Amino acid sequence: MSASSLSCSACDAVCCRLTVVLQPDDGIPLHLTTHTEAGLHVMARDEEGWCVAIDAARMCCSIYGTRPQVCRRFAMAGPYCREIREDYADRNTRGIPLAMY
Ligand code: SF4
Ligand code: SF4
Repeated sequence: MSASSLSCSACDAVCCRLTVVLQPDDGIPLHLTTHTEAGLHVMARDEEGWCVAIDAARMCCSIYGTRPQVCRRFAMAGPYCREIREDYADRNTRGIPLAMY
């Protein structure tokens, strides 16, 4: 993937399908969160795996100004961003269901 094609505006917000573990002072409205079986407080996701805070109409984070710390630290075009984008593209190419567990 070229550097020029790697931007959030040309991405399906793949990172917003990852498990987002919340910190005690994140202050996210509780109706947007849930707990894993292991007891971690996380952002809730819809049945297809997307974070429920995504504004689907505008394809952006609806709580961007107060988004969780882990989302703030996620670096666009960093190694993890590149890895999950390549994995997502590979899964789409091969027709494998998108849900990530
Ligand atoms: S940070 Fe990376 S994975 Fe997340 S929306 Fe931007 S380009 Fe996509
Ligand atoms: S809180 Fe916002 S930035 Fe973080 S995963 Fe959800 S939609 Fe993406």
